[in-house]
Amino acid sequence: MEAGSYLCATTYVGTEIQPFNVTIMKCRNCGAEMPEGTKFCPVCGSSQVVNNGTQTAPGAVVGFILGLLGMCFVWFPLAGLPLSIIGVVISGKGKKKVEMNPSGYTGAGLLTAGQVLGIIGIIISAIYLVILLIGGALLGGSLSSFMDLSELFSSL
Ligand SMILES: [Zn+2]
Repeated sequence: MEAGSYLCATTYVGTEIQPFNVTIMKCRNCGAEMPEGTKFCPVCGSSQVVNNGTQTAPGAVVGFILGLLGMCFVWFPLAGLPLSIIGVVISGKGKKKVEMNPSGYTGAGLLTAGQVLGIIGIIISAIYLVILLIGGALLGGSLSSFMDLSELFSSL
């Protein structure tokens, strides 16, 4: 099939489609030109699939799940804080890859969600951790200290 149909496709692109701004990409292996979206190089036959825009960005799913888990564990900051931080880092790395090759990846929305969830998780976990530490320190004192803490909170 391939040789003849590719020749036709190439000719067609050269004379008809190119004036309508079809993007030409180069083979990842041999550098031959072909229309954007071609899955296999017409010259050397190597796969071009990485550039076809259907690959999920690395870390998109993992970063999002970690962000969600971090949110679930904000009331256990020693678990929630690390989960959220790792989620933000993984999502951020994925976003950089998407920015370098926006047409090559899907899942940018998941990466953004993972970052946002992670950052919110970090903030809530950190605040809660501070509250726990203060509360623990005061509770370690006396019951009257606990009453002070209650007053502190009610004055906020
Ligand atoms: Zn090639």
